[in-house]
Amino acid sequence: LVGDGMPQFRTLRGMRDFLPKDAKKMRYVEVVARDLARLYGYGEIITPVVEHYDILAAKSGEEIRERMYAFTDMGGRRVALRPEFTASIARLVATKMRHEPKPMKLFCAGSLYRYDEPQHGRFREFWQANYELIGSSKPEADAEILTLTYDLIERLGFRNYWVKIGHVGILRGILAQEGIAEEQQNMIMQLLDKKRLDEALTVTRESGASQSCVAALKKLLETRGKDVFQVLKETKRVVEDYESAVAAVENLREILELTRESGVKFETLIEAGFARGLEYYTGMIFESCVPEFEIALAGGGRYDKLIELFGGEPTPALGVAQGIDRLVLAMKKQKVSPKVPEENKVMIIPVGEELKTKAFELSLKLRNTKIPAEVEMMGRTVSKALSDADRRRVTHAVIVGPEELREERVVLRDMKKRKQRVVEIQNLSKEILRGPN
Ligand code: AMP
Repeated sequence: LVGDGMPQFRTLRGMRDFLPKDAKKMRYVEVVARDLARLYGYGEIITPVVEHYDILAAKSGEEIRERMYAFTDMGGRRVALRPEFTASIARLVATKMRHEPKPMKLFCAGSLYRYDEPQHGRFREFWQANYELIGSSKPEADAEILTLTYDLIERLGFRNYWVKIGHVGILRGILAQEGIAEEQQNMIMQLLDKKRLDEALTVTRESGASQSCVAALKKLLETRGKDVFQVLKETKRVVEDYESAVAAVENLREILELTRESGVKFETLIEAGFARGLEYYTGMIFESCVPEFEIALAGGGRYDKLIELFGGEPTPALGVAQGIDRLVLAMKKQKVSPKVPEENKVMIIPVGEELKTKAFELSLKLRNTKIPAEVEMMGRTVSKALSDADRRRVTHAVIVGPEELREERVVLRDMKKRKQRVVEIQNLSKEILRGPN
C-alpha cells in the first residue's frame, strides 16, 4: 500500500504509541495520582474529549486557543479536542453540579490535545492528572493544592525538585490600578510568560502606564528567590502604592505560612513577576520543576472568575494539572523506579496435545487465586517453552505431564533458581505463593 497513495504506516507527528513497558509507567503514575485523590477526598469525574469549541476557547488564552485541534463535526458544529481539563470542569460546576455542597473536590485523568511544536517533553497528545478544589476562597484551599502537589512528587520518589510560586494579583493589581484594560493586561502577561520581558515593558508603557508603574514592574521581574518570606517582604515594598497588589502579597504569605507550618517541606522559588499562559488565573499560580527539565512537570493556580463565565454563581476555585508524560520522563532521568512489588508470573506448559484442556483448567484456577497465569500456545516442546518463559521473565513454569497428572500432580519449576519438583494440584497456588523452593 505504501507508495500507492497511502500514508506511511506511522503515527502522526507529536503522537505516540505506548508499548507495554511504557504504558505501564504511564499507568503507574496515574494510579498513584488517583490514589492520592482518594486520600484527599477528590471524587473522580470523566468528561468528553470533544467539546464545543467556544467552551474550550472561552478563557484558555491566546496561545492555547491557536493550538486547538478544532474542526466542524458532521452535524455542522464547531468542536475541538480538549487542550486542558479546567474548562470542562467549569462547565460541569456551572451546570450539572451547581447545587452540590462546597467545597467540591474533583479529580480527572486523561488525554489532552494541543498542536504544539513537538520537542522533548512536549507532545500533541499528552496526559494529565488533574485536581480541582471548588468553592473556597480561603488560603487553606491554596495550601491544600500545594500540599497535594508536593505529596504526589514525594510519593513518586523524586529526589530533587522545587515549586515555583507567584500570584497573578501582584502584576494585575498594579496594571489595573493604572487603568490598563484587561486585554492589554492579558497581552502583557503572555509576554512575561514567554520571558519576552522587554516587549512586556514596552506594551505596558504604550498602554499608558506611569513611569513609576513601569519602574515597579521592572523591579518585580527581578524580585525572586528561595528565601520565601524575604522575597515577599521585598515585593511588598515594591508594590506598596498599589492596594490590591499588596493584598495579593499578603495572601501569598498566608498560604505559604500555612503550608510551611503544617510540615510540607519543598524548596520554594518565589517569583513576583511570574505569569502563566492561561488567562483565567486570578490568584496564586505555581509550577513544579526538576533540574533535568526546562519545562514544568505540573502547573496550577486559582481561577475565581471562571465559573461565572460559564453561567454559574460566582465561585472561587483552584486546581493543579500534573503532566503524566513529563513525570514519567523525569522519573527516568532521576532514576526513580516505580515502587511495585515483584509479581509472580506463571506459564503452564502441557506436555502433549491431550493435556491442553487440563492446562487451561489450571490457569483458570490460578487466576482465581489472583496469580497471573498463561498457557503455552505455540505448540512448543517443553524445553523450547521453558526458554521462551525465561525470555518473558516468567517466575514459575507449571509442566503438566501425563504421569504426574495421573496422581493429580504437576511439575512446578522455579525459573530463577532453575529447580523443579512435583506438587499436588490442590496445593499449586499455595506452593507458588510460598516463594522460592
Ligand atoms: P498547562 O495546562 O499548560 O498549565 O500544563 C500543565 C502541565 O501539563 C504541564 O506542566 C505539563 O506537565 C503538561 N503539559 C502541557 N502541555 C504539554 C504538552 N504539549 N506535552 C506534554 N505535557 C504537557
